[in-house]
Amino acid sequence: MTRKRVYITRVIQEEAVALLKEHFDVTMNLEDRVAYREEVMDAVENADALLCLINDNVDSEIIRRAGRLKIIANYGVGYNNIDVEEASKKGIIVTNTPGVLTDATADLAWGLLLAAARRIVESDKFSRAGKYKSWSPTLLLGRSAAGKTLGVIGAGRIGRAVAKRSRGFDMKVIYHSRNRNKEFENELNARWVEKEELLRRSDFVSLHVPLTDETRHMIGEREFEMMKDTAVLINTSRGPVVDEKALVHALKQGQIWAAGLDVYEREPDIEEGLIKLDNAVLASHIGSATIEARTSMALTAAKNVLSVLNGGEPLTPVNAEDL
Ligand code: NAP
Repeated sequence: MTRKRVYITRVIQEEAVALLKEHFDVTMNLEDRVAYREEVMDAVENADALLCLINDNVDSEIIRRAGRLKIIANYGVGYNNIDVEEASKKGIIVTNTPGVLTDATADLAWGLLLAAARRIVESDKFSRAGKYKSWSPTLLLGRSAAGKTLGVIGAGRIGRAVAKRSRGFDMKVIYHSRNRNKEFENELNARWVEKEELLRRSDFVSLHVPLTDETRHMIGEREFEMMKDTAVLINTSRGPVVDEKALVHALKQGQIWAAGLDVYEREPDIEEGLIKLDNAVLASHIGSATIEARTSMALTAAKNVLSVLNGGEPLTPVNAEDL
């Protein structure tokens, strides 16, 4: 019997590749670059499973080429890179990797929050440039998190984990989500508020929504005008949730105090204005970049492929209801 074919768009953790190789013919893009569109198209036409990354644009044109493809297993929890509707029309299962990267991403959000509020990166650059000459009562003053108000937008897995970490800082938590989340409220003594109220009241605003038509540019010029001029914005969700031009303007004009970003509107390009700003901390989409999380993500994606190609149910489907 011929073995089923799996295409992996970039080198992922060996454990997951080994698991797939036990059962299937595996082809993996071994080059240190994003898979070319033609390579993904070819995989969609000829493979039984596509294991792709969040920066592979698996759009409707690609999906319409599907031959015998059964599953698109995304290596990531966000799946805005895949046209799920088109996949559902073709009866293709789409899966993601929820949960296994929650703590890693929440930790990074907190890293950015503290780095931005306490000017850690700026201070690092200052020290390396040989500018640190003496301790001073006014040198590189930041803002403290203790006792302040944290506003979480998107009270899902990561939003909740970020809020949980604020307990050590005795912060008040308010949140905004489409639906109220009673568990979140009870566990964290958090209060649901409208987005506008959250922006007006929060000292720290942390974004944890998926990228959808509704959330694109959810934070823009109008929202920055509502925020405190002492506020810090953290974005570890997806870049286009924030209007980056409006963010540069807000940071330059002192409409907000600082920003900590892991994601960008036109990733991997970063708005030039941002690069020049000292009050923006810029990470390179490393939210889930721990050895533990990435290994679990790879294994989750691989196990989804394994189960579906062996005739079983996907572990973590995103379009189960549509199929
Ligand atoms: P999740 O559990 O699905 O949480 C998403 C939350 O967003 C849900 O509470 C949802 O609320 C809310 N939401 C959706 N649309 C909304 C809207 N229009 N307005 C307000 N709230 C809305 O997802 P997660 O696991 O926490 O991940 C969140 C996102 O983080 C992912 O989609 C991904 O893009 C991003 N992420 C980034 C990294 C990174 O490396 N930086 C790593 C992991 C994840 P309802 O339940 O009411 O719909």
